[in-house]
Amino acid sequence: MLACDFGNLKSEIDMVNKSDADWFHIDVMDGVFVPNISFGTPIMKVLKENAKKTLDVHLMIVNPDKYLENFAELGADILTVHFEACTHLHRTVQRIKNLNMKAGVAINPHTPVSLLKSIIRELDLVCVMSVNPGFGGQSFIENTYDKVQELKSMINDSGSNAIIEIDGGVNSNNAKKLIDCGATALVAGSFVFKSSNPTQTISELSSIIN
Ligand code: ZN
Repeated sequence: MLACDFGNLKSEIDMVNKSDADWFHIDVMDGVFVPNISFGTPIMKVLKENAKKTLDVHLMIVNPDKYLENFAELGADILTVHFEACTHLHRTVQRIKNLNMKAGVAINPHTPVSLLKSIIRELDLVCVMSVNPGFGGQSFIENTYDKVQELKSMINDSGSNAIIEIDGGVNSNNAKKLIDCGATALVAGSFVFKSSNPTQTISELSSIIN
């Protein structure tokens, strides 16, 4: 939703409700963990009231532990924190699950997949950042394919059920290859909202995935 028109937020939410998209992906940025501020509680409230699909909330913030209860109350179904922002990641993941949300961990482009080995079985989702987080509309980083394949093997070997989500620069040129490498969820922002027909763009991406 980072790329949507916030002046018409309700109609943008409605477009996604009626589209083939499975989830709402919501990027919360604090201007500290990433060099940009996006939005917080007021926008989340509008999403909670109007969105009719899974709310997939991606916290690009320092000290996410301070806000876990807050996002549970705001209706997050999946709550993803950054590996790089959590000193006690195992505890954070358990707290997210105890709040009845699915737990995700995001890794920045420089963070190796191997660092997730000790926690992978606890995770419902791994978000592989395919751009440096902070802004919408950036170009896809090509080494993401290798990371997804490595992550897929780790998940298979460990017996984890984690979903592999790709976030950043996803479009109709890289979607198929990402799915073939093992991705199971694709986040598209600018590619959808800046297109001339967002509903149709979502349908086209969906048909590549399914
Ligand atoms: Zn995101």
